[in-house]
Amino acid sequence: MRQSKMFIPTQREVPASAESLSHQLMLKSGMIKQLARGVYTYLPITKLVLQNIENIVREEMNRIDGNEVQMPVLAPRELWEESGRWEKYGKELMRLKDRHDRDFLLGPTHEEVVVDLVRDELRSYKRLPLTIYQIQTKFRDELRPRFGLLRGREFIMKDAYSFHIDQESLSKTYQDMYNAYEKIFTRFGLDFRAVEADSGAIGGSHTHEFMALSEIGEDTIVFSENSDYAANIEKAACLRPEEKSDDAEKDIEKVDTPNVKSCSELADLLGIDLKETTKTMVVNVDGELKMIVLRGDHELNTIKLKTFFNSNTEPELADESDILEIFNAQPGSLGPVNSKIPVYIDYQVEVMKNFPVGANEDNYHFINVNLKDVEVEDVGDFRFITEGEMAPDGSGPVKFREGIEVGQVFELGTEYSEALNLTVLNERGQSVPVLMGCYGIGISRALSAIIEKYHDENGIMWPKSVTPFDVHIVMMNVKKEEFVNPAEELYDSLSKQYKVLLDDRDERAGVKFNDSDLIGIPVRVVVGRGIKDGVVEVKFRNSEKTHDVKLEDLESFINEHYN
Ligand code: ATP
Ligand code: MG
Repeated sequence: MRQSKMFIPTQREVPASAESLSHQLMLKSGMIKQLARGVYTYLPITKLVLQNIENIVREEMNRIDGNEVQMPVLAPRELWEESGRWEKYGKELMRLKDRHDRDFLLGPTHEEVVVDLVRDELRSYKRLPLTIYQIQTKFRDELRPRFGLLRGREFIMKDAYSFHIDQESLSKTYQDMYNAYEKIFTRFGLDFRAVEADSGAIGGSHTHEFMALSEIGEDTIVFSENSDYAANIEKAACLRPEEKSDDAEKDIEKVDTPNVKSCSELADLLGIDLKETTKTMVVNVDGELKMIVLRGDHELNTIKLKTFFNSNTEPELADESDILEIFNAQPGSLGPVNSKIPVYIDYQVEVMKNFPVGANEDNYHFINVNLKDVEVEDVGDFRFITEGEMAPDGSGPVKFREGIEVGQVFELGTEYSEALNLTVLNERGQSVPVLMGCYGIGISRALSAIIEKYHDENGIMWPKSVTPFDVHIVMMNVKKEEFVNPAEELYDSLSKQYKVLLDDRDERAGVKFNDSDLIGIPVRVVVGRGIKDGVVEVKFRNSEKTHDVKLEDLESFINEHYN
């Protein structure tokens, strides 16, 4: 393509709200334009890269017998009521009404729609397994859209759904997908890890997330250096300690703690370590209040609570007004002694002795509390693991890395087929619910993740697999025939083998080079002064070196060095 005809509105300055490098670079290199928060126009270069990304995904999906379809973005409320998600999906769901005042939504994911698609068609187990996928725009009214395409409210996803007669078949497709994802993210050139994850809002049991390692990542990956253990921090299990200290248990005592509202204030007042304190929280589990007690230095993990209590929604901290009403004390003054609601303690509190707790009375705490002083309903793993703790597989201390979730694979089981009545006849002629899997890839997010990895201070450095162009021919003077003619000839000849962008704009050399670095095409060929001797200058985007190459050797030079 000719750069003079291409719409690449490069920018020198970007707004301060562009926090991530990929967001800044995409704005600077004229790849995206924001319309509303988390909503972008994809400009020509972005479209070219997205096509490459999508084609890699298509190839790998087709290889494992995926059927590509395109389902509607717009879906009626009734279908989502069948699954219960019209209510349950909450504020992230983009809802709208048609002219007849009927409720619709813009699809954030397509389990309901795909089940509706197949439930009338699939009658017999003989048609299974079946895999259906699409590459499509999704809508989620994210609380914090940010980092450009990394977290948009309108974004592109590849979503696949598989249907099975039994677990064995589901497990096989799950593994095929897992392997296909490894190939896809390798082809994208990403450093990634597949991690055990929590199944979150979609439900289901077995699931992995694919995380592109990156400092900007909003997810924390917990891994062991001595084994292949890796999990999302939301999921990473904390071991139940075996040893209890052999300190003698003292007698419980009530003490004055004026104005103490936090564990660190309590630790200061009592002259003890933060990890010798406890913190008590009241959470709302599907409408019932429960008290959770953690060690003072630990953080509550509400996703683990959801799993532990098998609740419909993720438990939240109770409202302060409810706490005041029940306990007549501030949230910072609560404790498990004589609690009015059921008490659950974390594994780490189970091994503590002589610890302090709130007295359910402002300005007082109990000290020297032991388990015998508390009526405990149950003990469990309710917190986030911390770096350096033993990995759940016992292989050694865990380390943390930041990651961008670029894909996820789920075994859904029969949750949706039961809710939406998707059954087939099995070998014995009995009607049984179909097992399902679902598998997503963030296409537009992956593009940003690639830029997060492939750039330097001057701009993007596209990996070959997704690059919008292979070769960037820069014409130094567009007014003189001695530059124009050979550049045009090169453009024609190189275009037979490569995707070529010809910078034929009437701009200063400095502008052209800056833009060229910014756009980041892997091979640059400059038609400059040397052309009178039949020589061009070649530079690869990932190296500082320049090479003077004779015109007749150019193609073989590129073939040899660009691979
Ligand atoms: P996250 O935890 O980051 O919000 P998710 O787990 O809700 O993502 P899934 O429902 O698993 O997302 O969607 C499949 C894939 O779609 C994700 O792995 C991610 O790559 C991509 N994705 C999800 N939300 C967004 C978004 N707001 N913008 C861009 N891509 C997204
Ligand atoms: Mg996910």
